[in-house]
Amino acid sequence: MTQMKVKDLLPIPELMEARRVLCVQAHPDDAEIGAGATVAKMTRAGTGVVYLTVTDGGVGTTDAAITPARLARIRRREGEEAAAVLGVREMLWADFPDGRGLELFAVREKVIEAVRQVRPDMLMVMDPWLPYEAHSDHRITGLAVAEAAIMSGFPHLHPQQLAGGREPHAPQAVAFYATSRPNTFVDVTGTWPLKMEALAKHESQFTPESLDMIGAYLAAKAREHAAGRGYEMAEAFKVLTPTHLHMFEDAWQC
Ligand SMILES: [Zn+2]
Repeated sequence: MTQMKVKDLLPIPELMEARRVLCVQAHPDDAEIGAGATVAKMTRAGTGVVYLTVTDGGVGTTDAAITPARLARIRRREGEEAAAVLGVREMLWADFPDGRGLELFAVREKVIEAVRQVRPDMLMVMDPWLPYEAHSDHRITGLAVAEAAIMSGFPHLHPQQLAGGREPHAPQAVAFYATSRPNTFVDVTGTWPLKMEALAKHESQFTPESLDMIGAYLAAKAREHAAGRGYEMAEAFKVLTPTHLHMFEDAWQC
């Protein structure tokens, strides 16, 4: 007799069945790096994808001559151009200062507000539990989204947001990109060139050499994720429901 495993009691939602997605990133290029080809595949299939960028990206440079305010303006334009390549037409900007230490509850409040406005069935964000992730903007943003997923349906949280159609709304799942524990592999063979084209829009972030290096690394990872699945390139995600994200001991191995 086969015994049912606890982790199998709670099915993982199918990422590509989402019809409306709120894709959250700490900085203006994170989603392209982690999930750009999947975003392009979703918008081509008619799924509405809205971006929420948490910080202004103003410190992402080694050039002391460029001010954070000017870099933030450049990066917003680059982000808009990259998103347009992927078919994303709506972008929200929280404009927290980049790299200065995000406050979890302030970011969570912004994410909950965006969830109630956009009303997605799926959230996307970088995995805050990625081992060795050193950037606190990435960790705090991921944690804020995970917590928003379990709390945005509660009317007593941030009741001032409820006016103007921003009623409580509970997404069905969170898809974490840049994860070391993937449970979902999306065939992105057809949209891989769009991811690379979008990445190239972030001119302030890459030299031609570093763009080639990251492109080669991402392509090698995509082939690794696709190996044995019958297609060439895959992006990998950890998809979890809000139930998994709250006192569920098997979530790490789901
Ligand atoms: Zn980043």
